[in-house]
Amino acid sequence: MKKWSVVSGRWSAVSYKASVFICVHLWLVISVFSQNKPCQLDEKTMQFVGSPVAQARCLLRPNKIGGVLGEELKKMPDPLEKLIGEKVKIKKENLRKYLQKNKIDEQNVGGSLDEILSKAKLPNGEEIQALYFLIHDTSSPYLQDADDFPADINETSYKGNKLEIWLNNPVAHIFVNRVGESITTTPFAESVRKGWGTKFARDILKADAKGLQIHIELIQPRRRDKTNPNPNNDLIAPAVGFTEGQYERLALLYVCASVRRGTWLIPSYHSAMDAGIKDAHDDPQNFDLKKFAKELKKIINSIKTL
Ligand SMILES: [Zn+2]
Repeated sequence: MKKWSVVSGRWSAVSYKASVFICVHLWLVISVFSQNKPCQLDEKTMQFVGSPVAQARCLLRPNKIGGVLGEELKKMPDPLEKLIGEKVKIKKENLRKYLQKNKIDEQNVGGSLDEILSKAKLPNGEEIQALYFLIHDTSSPYLQDADDFPADINETSYKGNKLEIWLNNPVAHIFVNRVGESITTTPFAESVRKGWGTKFARDILKADAKGLQIHIELIQPRRRDKTNPNPNNDLIAPAVGFTEGQYERLALLYVCASVRRGTWLIPSYHSAMDAGIKDAHDDPQNFDLKKFAKELKKIINSIKTL
């Protein structure tokens, strides 16, 4: 969620050494910018160009430290390639049974399965349901100069795993903690209650079309990289990234949103959605698309065999 800017490093007294550093830094910034090209947008539809699968390959480009994006994916892990954009075959009653069996309240996974998703008004006046499933990390708690992350970050005891605090700060639809629990702060039926979710929504979609995006925040603490000149940077995320519980719940949320829409949404990292926009965010860090796809496959199979 939090931003780190590749251009906001500050120097108060510019010495010779510092200016050499600045040159190197600027070179890095330029190479970062050429890599971080935005996916091509069709302004008439507010959607990216290409099939839903082609869009996802661009929007799920690997996201490295500082929000430096890798190359567009040639192929996404199974079953994403064959699902994205397609009609959902899972029946709502079966998903409901799965939730009941696993004691998961619909209210904690985006609200009633009977409701459609938030709507967006396109420039031609047409209204369509949300299409993009945005994956974020909270970059919170921010541990500043701590030497390491607390040992219990993946346990209920960790203060960062308390979800209720986000009810007062509904900057996403759902927050998922590191033990795999979730809380709805904006039901999927509405566009995000506080702010925009992404700079892309703020600058391009604006109020009429921000409902095109569903936002999921995964709890992940951050630390400062002491070697970086930006005193407020939060570049370091836990090396392991997210927990199995988080991937599992994220996959379930993707299923719930897609069943409600009737077609599989287009997943996107926040970083790739905001590519090319000044101060673009760098989340989610250390996200493993294969683990997400694996959990998705597992849930789909479990629902089939209920
Ligand atoms: Zn974000």
